Amino acid sequence: MICKNCGAEIADGSTFCTQCGAPVQQEQPQQPQQPVYTAAPAAQAPEGKPILILGILSLALNSIPYVGWIAGLICAIICAKKVKAYLAAGGQLTGAAKVGKILGTVGLIVSIVMAVVWFIVIIVAIIAAVGAAASSSYYNW
Ligand SMILES: [Zn+2]
Repeated sequence: MICKNCGAEIADGSTFCTQCGAPVQQEQPQQPQQPVYTAAPAAQAPEGKPILILGILSLALNSIPYVGWIAGLICAIICAKKVKAYLAAGGQLTGAAKVGKILGTVGLIVSIVMAVVWFIVIIVAIIAAVGAAASSSYYNW
């Protein structure tokens, strides 16, 4: 007979496949196949850990300037999406998911604030440089 799990040839009457170890269902032609009542798959509790990991990652990346803020922002966005999916799947916002959501939110805020602050700093620096160049040329002409 043939194993239904891996397709290996196995001895008739075996209860387990010698190749993959899967239990072998004996063919019982004289009896109609008993309907197998498998419990309806319980709504799987969604995993809160990825949210936590993304939240930590977002915050950790934010400690790295520039590239880190962008990466942290991306992580924070993915984290927020995971939270949404987690809640949609019936997950409770407790434990790892809750902490992850908070960290992800903080990461998002830090990324945006850092990017905005440094954007302003760079703009101010450019204006100052242009102003300095303009005034020096004014005094030097
Ligand atoms: Zn097998």
